[in-house]
Amino acid sequence: MTTNKLQSTDAIVVGGGPVGSYTALNLSKLGVRTTVFEEHPQIGLPSHCAGHISIHSLKAMGLYPLPAGIIENNFSTANFYSPAGSKFSLHLSCPVTTALNRARFDQYLAKLAEEAGAEFVLGSRVQSLIIKEGYVKGVNAINSDSNQQINSKIVIDTEGISSRLLRQTGLTPLKPSGIVYAIETEMEKVENLDLDAVEVYFGKSYAPGFYGWVIPRPDGSAKVGLATNHGNPRQYLNRLMTKHPVASKQLAKAKITSIGYHAITLAGPIPQSYMNGFLAAGDCASQVKSTTGGGVIFGLKAAKEAAEVASKALKAGDVSSRVLSEYQKRCESLFKFDTKVMLKLRQFVDSLSDERLDEMLRICGKLGVADALRDVNEIDFQGKMLLNAATKPAMIAALGYFSLLYLSANP
Ligand SMILES: Cc1cc2nc3c(=O)[nH]c(=O)nc-3n(C[C@H](O)[C@H](O)[C@H](O)COP(=O)(O)OP(=O)(O)OC[C@H]3O[C@@H](n4cnc5c(N)ncnc54)[C@H](O)[C@@H]3O)c2cc1C
Repeated sequence: MTTNKLQSTDAIVVGGGPVGSYTALNLSKLGVRTTVFEEHPQIGLPSHCAGHISIHSLKAMGLYPLPAGIIENNFSTANFYSPAGSKFSLHLSCPVTTALNRARFDQYLAKLAEEAGAEFVLGSRVQSLIIKEGYVKGVNAINSDSNQQINSKIVIDTEGISSRLLRQTGLTPLKPSGIVYAIETEMEKVENLDLDAVEVYFGKSYAPGFYGWVIPRPDGSAKVGLATNHGNPRQYLNRLMTKHPVASKQLAKAKITSIGYHAITLAGPIPQSYMNGFLAAGDCASQVKSTTGGGVIFGLKAAKEAAEVASKALKAGDVSSRVLSEYQKRCESLFKFDTKVMLKLRQFVDSLSDERLDEMLRICGKLGVADALRDVNEIDFQGKMLLNAATKPAMIAALGYFSLLYLSANP
């Protein structure tokens, strides 16, 4: 990939993350001349993501299996722990999730996009959008030796959670109250690893507003992190590693080999993600699961819709917001129901005290919720997943119990 001195193109994609590259791949396949601007000199680095993704969704997009070296592990089990150490285990009938090496995954998507015809301009930061007569008409980009003004017929913003350019458009930005701050580490010498299981640690005393995670690799190392809605994530991680009745047994002697910080947006998609000559996809449009903070799958799905709608608009010679609003409609029909349910679930879990969380995990175990969910293979669309499972007696009992718990926590 080389730096180009181009002055105009049909579509500009801002950001070479997974959503940007997948947008560029789909645009290029549809014959749209596309240029991606990425501020870092290399795609995928620095990496800020655990890369825990649903296999079913990757398959549905034709992205599974992946080339060697990208997949680190597959999982059929998730263990959920309360702050007091109560455990609820979900053993699914086959591996349902995979842990990706995110840097390699991002590089793979960028390579596919480049092979399909997209141009990548690396080490080039988009400083601002060019907006004339109410239309986005290109970008101002800066790299180490020059400033460039590049015109385009449409700009697709996939800049991630910073969402600086989105704010320039005047569209409703991400909700600060929905943002949690994450620490993501790689650790060696983690003990008692169950290689088939992702470990999830809940509780206000360890990860207020989110949870902690341990994602094992076959070599005995693990990705370990947590996010919080207040306080210092590093201090919370120290506490999880040394004080949690279960996590401390795994992590107290572990060695941190890399460490990074990044934010996660949990408030659900922004109300409008288009304007004249402009679409937003991925984290910058908050297309992220409020329950888990997972944004790769919804972002990729939105990227495909963005590319199709943009291509159609370019062919019709009309990139007005009236035409581009089709993107919003498509995204809403794909995941509006699920994102609403997941936001409610997030608010529900956040409203529970540590004691209530402990009780909830114990009762889920007693009611047989794990058996009722055993055959689940789709974990992204959690609203539809719950609807499907709600016919089972254990789930009816559990949902009744959750409702009571919710009402008692939110009188
Ligand atoms: C600690 C942590 C763990 C996570 N774990 C998971 C997980 O297990 N599974 C999951 O599905 N999701 C996870 N996520 C969320 C996931 O990382 C994001 O949803 C996903 O990366 C969104 O992709 P994106 O392309 O929209 O944004 P990003 O991946 O953030 O990519 C944006 C790109 O744009 C570039 N950029 C930004 N501004 C500019 C600019 N002005 N000019 C040029 N380039 C620019 C950036 O350098 C970056 O490369 C996690 C997030 C965090 C923080």
